[in-house]
Amino acid sequence: MNNLQPEKLPLTRQEFSRLKIFHNVCYESIAGYLLHSHIETFDAGTTLISPDNSVKRLIVLLKGELEIQITSDKKTTINTIEEGNCVGEISIFDNSNPSAWVRCSKKSSVLIIPGYTILAMLHASHDLCLNFLHLLSQRVRYSNEIVRDNEFHIRCIEEASKIDSLTSLHNRRWLQEMYSRELKRSHAGNFKLCALMLDIDHFKAINDTHGHIAGDSVLVQLASILNESLRPSDMPVRFGGEEFSVFLPGTHTDNAKVIAERIRKNMEKNIFILPNQKQVKITVSIGFAKRESTDTVESLIEKADQALYYAKENGRNKVAMYLEKGEFFLF
Ligand code: GH3
Ligand code: MG
Ligand code: MG
Repeated sequence: MNNLQPEKLPLTRQEFSRLKIFHNVCYESIAGYLLHSHIETFDAGTTLISPDNSVKRLIVLLKGELEIQITSDKKTTINTIEEGNCVGEISIFDNSNPSAWVRCSKKSSVLIIPGYTILAMLHASHDLCLNFLHLLSQRVRYSNEIVRDNEFHIRCIEEASKIDSLTSLHNRRWLQEMYSRELKRSHAGNFKLCALMLDIDHFKAINDTHGHIAGDSVLVQLASILNESLRPSDMPVRFGGEEFSVFLPGTHTDNAKVIAERIRKNMEKNIFILPNQKQVKITVSIGFAKRESTDTVESLIEKADQALYYAKENGRNKVAMYLEKGEFFLF
């Protein structure tokens, strides 16, 4: 290094010490290696690193801005590299092609150091090794954060897909998963379980008289009354249209009858306010059935549904219980 001619180096000592990757690194210990590096300027949009280019080199951003993108369509920027930071080190260390694209988001000047030179520099400077370890630790931490954020995002989407957008009750997708789980638990522990089906009486007339939007607002208010009439452990679902189902875990028929009657009465006494401020009253019919040891989710719901139609046939605004094949009890 003694014969080093500073004018041949791409960076002055001051420029060198301002770069994050060379922080605390002795200029003399590695300046000679910089003879193998050079500075280039690229226009915005230029791709500097891509997975199909195996050339290993460290790119240190001197001026401008770089973006790291994980798809070739330039749409998925996962990180922005600012002046003084570098890219390309992972391919040098694991001797593999890059896993992402690095593009200039602005006109950028960069210091380009060949991969083999970086490896030689690491042998010459422990401080440079430490800087790379620090950099890689930050990269790993940042990747973990992205994975965690994505995981959270996916979970939110999954949860949202199980919610009915009109009433905010759970929907059939949730029912499939959660009712199966609850029935299994009930079979395994021989716990009591009742299923309840509810259908609005003459709902078509509400739509025909006041319009579909008014009908929608009735469904929203009904869902809220239904929730208020249940215990936290009960499992209401918008089954479809103006039909609702509820699984009542740990509940025998006497209690299911009390709950069904409470729901029916709460609906009957409530005044529903339509978007045009008009007031309407509705009634509901309810059927319920208790779990038998051979029941599936479908068969249990089917029994509650048969009881519901028995309540409809027998005057509506009623609660009926499924006794056994073809037999019902009307309360
Ligand atoms: P019943 O007492 O026999 O149950 O009579 P009904 O009029 O309630 O039953 P029917 O099956 O004849 O009509 C159900 C109506 O529910 C028709 C349909 O337009 C309405 N409906 C279903 N889903 C929605 C919805 O999301 N919004 C609104 N506004 N109406 C809905
Ligand atoms: Mg109806
Ligand atoms: Mg119906």
